[in-house]
Amino acid sequence: MVYPIVAFGSPVLKRRAKNVECPNDALGGLVDSMFETMYASKGVGLAAPQIGFGTRIFVVDGSPFADDPDNAEDAEVLKSFKKVFINPEILEESGDEWAFEEGCLSIPDLHEAVVRRETLRIKYQDLEGRWHEETYSGVPARIIQHEYDHIEGVLFTDRLSPLKKRLIQGRLKDIAAGKVSANYRMKFNVA
Ligand code: ZN
Repeated sequence: MVYPIVAFGSPVLKRRAKNVECPNDALGGLVDSMFETMYASKGVGLAAPQIGFGTRIFVVDGSPFADDPDNAEDAEVLKSFKKVFINPEILEESGDEWAFEEGCLSIPDLHEAVVRRETLRIKYQDLEGRWHEETYSGVPARIIQHEYDHIEGVLFTDRLSPLKKRLIQGRLKDIAAGKVSANYRMKFNVA
């Protein structure tokens, strides 16, 4: 099922999401819907709060980024970077900070360079409840960091400089008020 994307300004996007029992019969359907919704809106990642669920789950599929020459270094990993992260915990972030232009399905038509660390170690459960611990760098790490922020109640706009924040204030207000045109359905002010 394709859900509408919850827009910036909704309280659910600002709340820390809660762990979910895993495995659990309801999870497969929810995760399928998250992938369907992500593909319908042409995203490379989607977190549960973005469809109104306050649970610590996000899905990614970085393959659309694999063909971008800018991401050549990460192309091999990105090609098959499709998975679900349930109850994830970032254990460590390391490496140099670097700027990468981020966007967000909940904040249409806004792209800004965000600075984050290069590498991370994460543990998470799969749908069967098995725990995994993995290390990612570069663009795949970036996708994870962005989605992980969502389940912590943080948006990429929270990470911009005070000046940048002031500059985009009007645009964010418009989005929260429903003045947006996205190629997918959106939902506003979701509690
Ligand atoms: Zn996002």
